Amino acid sequence: MAKPDGFMLFPRELPLDRSADERIRDYDEFHRIFSDEKQRRQAARCMDCGIPFCHAGRIVEKATTGCPIHNLIPEWNELLYKGRWEEAYARLMKTNNFPEFTGRVCPAPCEDACTVGLYDPMVTIKQNEVHIIEKAFLEGFVEPYIPPIRTGKKVAVIGSGPAGLACADQLNRAGHTIDVLEKADRPGGLLMYGIPNMKLDKTIVLRRIHLMESSGIRFLLNTEAGRDKTIEELLSDYDAVVFCCGAEKPRDLDVEGRSLSGIYFAMDFLTENTRTLLAGPGAAGAPADAIGAGGCAADLRAQDKNVVVIGGGDTGTDCVATCVRHGVKSVRQLEIMSKPPETRTVDNPWPQWRKILRTDYGQEEAIYRFGEDPRNFETTVTSFLGKAGHVSGVKTVRVAWNQGEDGAFRFTPVPGTEEQLEADIVLLAMGFLGPTDATFENTGLRRNNRGNIATENDTYATDIPGVFAAGDARRGQSLVVWAIREGRQAARACDCYLSGHSELPQ
Ligand SMILES: Cc1cc2nc3c(=O)[nH]c(=O)nc-3n(C[C@H](O)[C@H](O)[C@H](O)COP(=O)(O)OP(=O)(O)OC[C@H]3O[C@@H](n4cnc5c(N)ncnc54)[C@H](O)[C@@H]3O)c2cc1C
Ligand code: SF4
Repeated sequence: MAKPDGFMLFPRELPLDRSADERIRDYDEFHRIFSDEKQRRQAARCMDCGIPFCHAGRIVEKATTGCPIHNLIPEWNELLYKGRWEEAYARLMKTNNFPEFTGRVCPAPCEDACTVGLYDPMVTIKQNEVHIIEKAFLEGFVEPYIPPIRTGKKVAVIGSGPAGLACADQLNRAGHTIDVLEKADRPGGLLMYGIPNMKLDKTIVLRRIHLMESSGIRFLLNTEAGRDKTIEELLSDYDAVVFCCGAEKPRDLDVEGRSLSGIYFAMDFLTENTRTLLAGPGAAGAPADAIGAGGCAADLRAQDKNVVVIGGGDTGTDCVATCVRHGVKSVRQLEIMSKPPETRTVDNPWPQWRKILRTDYGQEEAIYRFGEDPRNFETTVTSFLGKAGHVSGVKTVRVAWNQGEDGAFRFTPVPGTEEQLEADIVLLAMGFLGPTDATFENTGLRRNNRGNIATENDTYATDIPGVFAAGDARRGQSLVVWAIREGRQAARACDCYLSGHSELPQ
């Protein structure tokens, strides 16, 4: 145990984020890191519970509870408190290939399940995690892993998001030779083109990719499986194939005016922004006066425009934050769901993930910039308005949610609540419907009734022998931490297929 009375002596404390005023002027990360001393004190708050719900990683009554990859949280909290950095790092890496990603972007279901959180603010688990891994990088503990024996088996991992990276890392540890095929020009999946730089700096992603390359994993960029390499070629060149190709098919909004220009999928906007940022100032397409080195080229640029973001999730919030950095004239974020409560309700007890109102960084920044929360809850769009073929506004209506006799909730429009919002750009951030149609057409993989790659009896094996699937492609759109879990488990399934057994952890 870290310190028996730590939770009574020290209050929960996090490093202050960079202020909204400062951070909206650039695309740098807005979270900061404490001194070692301060973070060790936070680790002292861990009670080393007999049953550590934080690391349970279970679905309780349809709600996530605890860490999906079963991080050994009380153990590394104690080692962190004692300043035993190398051991803390070793414990952390037993369950998580990429704590530098989860420590930055995970919504931390572990913290909502922390027992201290029953009566006091919970332990700063996520901040402890990122502190340990950054210290490990600083101290030089993080090294490439070159397996002592290669098995001679070759595996193609399709997609370099967190699922593909975790799968490749694990299979490399098992001694197999791994190629990661990635259709984009840079590796990382949504860690690279999706989650914006201010939440996860792209140098952090590349630092890990370089380590994996030094471990012997090859990244074949601009290579689309099913097109540049057919499934037949993949099956003849490799002993197994694992599809970790994400859930890229965006949900559309089929209402009047959808064909107007100026209406984009959120991922087109976010990808273009990161691409421009990484190209650097002065690069082709980068606006000379862009804020920081980012911004977007031409019509995707939100500066001095009215933007309506449709969708209240992470993707929508990232769009709001990016628009604020562009110097947007106004930004509204429409969410069809009801405004969540401020605190837990009785049907959402501890240790479940709290379904409460969260004001994320993007909303904080819009509030700073415009003086009000950009979100309109219980609101949907009935049509897009246009001038000369370009979007000029959206028509909205409030909705009411009611539970039917079958237990399902459905919404109905509320008469008399129609409104019109000005919009020069509309960003559709309403979620994803599984892998693209091309993925299925080009590979012969089967789609399940949720639009994802079908696997046998909820395992990772598809119905093509030697072909596996993991991550958002199998599970549906989710979180980085779930993608890592899927990648690790698919690696084990693939290793069993190749070797007849596996030493890789479950
Ligand atoms: C904007 C946004 C913000 C998010 N923010 C967060 C967050 O803050 N915290 C969090 O936990 N989660 C967040 N998520 C969710 C998280 O990013 C995903 O759940 C996670 O990245 C899924 O990992 P994956 O490896 O399954 O797929 P992806 O990360 O989508 O990677 C799939 C990769 O496969 C490649 N690919 C696809 N088809 C092929 C092919 N045929 N051949 C070769 N390559 C192919 C794609 O180019 C892509 O690089 C966010 C998602 C979005 C869209
Ligand atoms: S990976 Fe996520 S859930 Fe697990 S310990 Fe880290 S922050 Fe918590």
